[in-house]
Amino acid sequence: LPKRADLVDYNYAVAGHAGTLCDPDGELFIKPCTAQEIAFYESAKAEHPDFAELMPVYMGTLQLNDATDINSINEQIPGVADHISQHMKEEVVKMAHEIQPQQSTVDLHADWAPSVTKKIVTNTAIVLENAAHGYKHPNILDVKLGTRLWADDAPLKKRARFDQIASETTHGDLGFRIAGMRVYKGTTDKSKLDEEGYLIYDKEFGKTQVKTHNVASGFKKFIFNESAKVDEELGKAVARAFLDDLRRVEQVLAAEESRMYSASLLFVFEGDGEALRACVEETSASTTLSDKGSLDSSGVGSRSTARVDSGIAVDEDGEIIAAAEDESDMEDDLPRAYSLKLIDFAHAEWTPGQGPDENSLKGVRSLIRIFEELAD
Ligand code: ADP
Ligand code: MN
Repeated sequence: LPKRADLVDYNYAVAGHAGTLCDPDGELFIKPCTAQEIAFYESAKAEHPDFAELMPVYMGTLQLNDATDINSINEQIPGVADHISQHMKEEVVKMAHEIQPQQSTVDLHADWAPSVTKKIVTNTAIVLENAAHGYKHPNILDVKLGTRLWADDAPLKKRARFDQIASETTHGDLGFRIAGMRVYKGTTDKSKLDEEGYLIYDKEFGKTQVKTHNVASGFKKFIFNESAKVDEELGKAVARAFLDDLRRVEQVLAAEESRMYSASLLFVFEGDGEALRACVEETSASTTLSDKGSLDSSGVGSRSTARVDSGIAVDEDGEIIAAAEDESDMEDDLPRAYSLKLIDFAHAEWTPGQGPDENSLKGVRSLIRIFEELAD
């Protein structure tokens, strides 16, 4: 019989629908999702490699229906089947059996109301790399992109509601909002932390407290955190790492013809300052890797390197860099320092001939300006 200890709920989602799962090791993130999101992952993998690099690694899908049993899941993704527990498979199957009819045609006048249960019910789950795996205490931030949040198939009621949200939040001016975040030891008031020591910022934070005039302060709460020993120096290095990745996101989006509505950028970094510092030191001594989640900057080889007394290697601009040695087989086991991923493609598609996704790019460019300020 499955044990309670095999708990399968993914407890680190900072926004979005309930019902996300992960395997007991936490390497995989499993989310019931729409056919459109799967199609987008598949086509990115096959035809848009630069874009795919911005997304969490896509492992495959679990097709679930009334006939699905645990053995058929094992057959679908053999590598994944080894990872997920019996108990988890049972949870996924149970979820799949609550299937609701899906609307296939566009009906502008369809009745629409915000979901109350926040539980997506579908017969398909997507299996992704868990972007928050490999950290001691990951700080996680979901930034939802766009000034327009609805796709072409949205009923008028949904459009009106989302346009209202956009106009009342930073979506309107900046093209994004903070959808949710969690910060390890995010306050000295212990009564405000959850049992794992996190301060949780729910969706109201980004809707009601973060406004255009004080938007940087929202991100400062995420990155700079003396109570977890993420001091000014370390925080700025984190901001610079995110800045590099944000510029890459801008570059890739500007070169693609795609549209995504209500997608997010998922920011993760090691929220435990001591672990972060140790991780930076360890990776500096072993390998170079902005693509593997350590704090790094480009042009490592060409820059002169100095050591600060913490032991972190920094270049003449004060950027934390890696000291380039070739041990790439270690990469999987290395503790991670940070990651930035595009997520949530429920309303994403390729749109050849229509030019870049300016709606999402607006948010990315605003974030670049803010992170330039934070890194400085
Ligand atoms: P929804 O349609 O419910 O908004 P998302 O894809 O945005 O679905 O996921 C909801 C939440 O789950 C995100 O805010 C994030 O915290 C978490 N999440 C999503 N994808 C991943 C992933 N690959 N790794 C870790 N966490 C993830
Ligand atoms: Mn989402």
